[in-house]
Parts: sequence; structure tokens; C-alpha cells
Amino acid sequence: MKAVVKTERKRGAVFTEVPVPKIERDDEILVKVKAAAVCGTDLHIYQWNRWASEHINPPQIMGHEFAGEVVEVGKEVKRVKVGDYISAETHISCGHCYQCLTGHPEVCENLKILGVSRDGAFAEYIVIPEKIAWKNPDDLPVEFAAIQEPMGNAVDTVLAEDVAGKTVAITGVGPIGLLAVGVARASGATKIIVSDLSDYHLEIAKKMGADVAVNAGSANFKEVVMDETEGRGVDVGLEMSGNAHALNDLLDVMTPAGRISLLGLFSDDFVPVKLNDDVIFKKLRIYGITGRRIFQTWVIVSRLLSSGRVDVSPVITHKFPLKEFEKGMLLMEQKQSGKVILYP
Ligand SMILES: [Zn+2]
Ligand SMILES: [Zn+2]
Repeated sequence: MKAVVKTERKRGAVFTEVPVPKIERDDEILVKVKAAAVCGTDLHIYQWNRWASEHINPPQIMGHEFAGEVVEVGKEVKRVKVGDYISAETHISCGHCYQCLTGHPEVCENLKILGVSRDGAFAEYIVIPEKIAWKNPDDLPVEFAAIQEPMGNAVDTVLAEDVAGKTVAITGVGPIGLLAVGVARASGATKIIVSDLSDYHLEIAKKMGADVAVNAGSANFKEVVMDETEGRGVDVGLEMSGNAHALNDLLDVMTPAGRISLLGLFSDDFVPVKLNDDVIFKKLRIYGITGRRIFQTWVIVSRLLSSGRVDVSPVITHKFPLKEFEKGMLLMEQKQSGKVILYP
């Protein structure tokens, strides 16, 4: 089969011929991939940044966001059958560590990740454990089904607490931030203010339901937010950029007793913030978000998509055959895309 493989410990990846993977354990399933989406993680693996060099062992098939059809199942597989239309949670938990036993498999001590610690979905076929398969309704377009995993991140970030009737600021509207705009809108947020450095992303954010879009490179975020919130600041802050300036801007415009969720990953281990004034005296509640709640967020994502409450079409900006994956990587690198979909 054809696949996109990270073959060397340097920038790049190759579209090449590899063997079709085989079911090796009785609880695994073989899936024919219909569509896969490019994630920021895939771009990092392609670029070979520090994180990638510490986590990826080439050769490895890239990709983890996908939708496809089950074509073979192992002997112990019970929930999924041949012909099912599925997507997959990408975090594979062990099921027996402290976190797994106490209801938090998303932070399993022995976590394995599709396309990171095992072969991924930028291929014609992928083998996955049955336990991460998520069945899709037959009428869900493959492009939508393929982006449920990042949309789950968005749901978890937005809905760490409710947003109904609240004012929301989102710093960073790359693909997950854009999905978060739609989720916040559908969940009853009354004003959504977004910031980014890319006008391309800001335009899509407006289509997704943002009321105010601020280019943080040219406008004063704080002034805009205060103008839009009667000088109070926002009730809810969603940090999705991983930029230290953006985080500080967000902390600065939070109304006291507000809530922040942090999803963006920072390149520096230490990020300076004014803890006294911006967090403690404001009595903020701060959530770290990683992965998704398995499978609670999948239920919500699936319903938001099926009901049409969130239309993700503006976020899906490019579609390429798998062999042209590099076009997608470059567009993402230049921040000139939303979600890029690849078809094997
Ligand atoms: Zn992803
Ligand atoms: Zn575990």
C-alpha cells in the first residue's frame, strides 16, 4: 500500500510503498482509510522539532486523525464489525494504571499515541486496537468524521465549565481554535472575541461565529476586549496559541472569578505570568487540557456534527490526494490553511 512515512531524523517525510499492516493481536481491527486530516503534531513531526526528535522513532507512518471502514477484525473483537464506518480516539490507554482506574485514561501513565508511538493513518490501511474505535453515523461526511479527534480537544477546552450566557475570549485560532469558536457558539456563549496573528485564520473564525476578530499584531487586544465587555473583561478565556504574550494578554482581560482553559503548548518550559495580580487576586480557575475525555467528548462532538449545530465546513480549507501531503504541510506551516484533508 501507499503511505506517508517519516524515514529519517530530519525535516521531511516520503510517500512510498509499504506492506499492508496485519492484525497482530486478537483485539485489533484493520481499517481502510477513507480520509485523514493533518494535525499540528504531524507538522511538527514533518519539521522535526525538538518534541518530535524526542518522541518519534523512524521509520514510522505518520497521521492520526482519520475516518475509514473496518475490513477485518481480530478474534476477540466484539463491539466493531466488518463494514463499520469508524474514526478513532488516538490515545491508547493501558486500562490498569492509577489514572485509568480512576477515570482519567487521557492521562494514562502508559499512554500510546497513534502516529506517534505506533504507525498512523496517512496510509491506505491502519491497524488499531478495537477499544479506540468510534462508530460514525453512515451519513456523516468523511471529512467531518476525520476531524472529530481535534474537535474533541476543542470541546474539552470550551466545556471544561459551561459557557452559556458567557463572554469568551480565544487566543489563537488555528484549526482547534476555529473548532472551539463553533463549539462555544453552539453552547450558548453570548460574545466570542478571538485573537491571532494570521488574518487568514481570523476570517475563518468569523465564519465560525466569532463576533470580534483581533489581529494581535496590529490591534490592542486589551482595548478591544474591554470595549466589548463594558470594561469588565471576559468570563471565559481559552488559550489555544501556545504563545506567552497571548497568554499574558488573556490573563490581563479575564474578569475576576473567571475561568481559563489552557490547550496551546508553549515552546519554553517556563512561561512568566503575573501570578499575584492576574491569577490569585483575580481568583481565576485554570484548567490544563490534554487529549479528550474518552469517550464523553466523542459523544458531544458526534451530536454537534450530526445535528448541524456546528458546521465545520469553513475550517476544512484544503483537500489533496495523499501523495500531495507536502502541499498541506507547507500551507499549514505558512498559516494559510485550516484543516487539510488527505485521501489515500
Ligand atoms: Zn491531532
Ligand atoms: Zn493507564
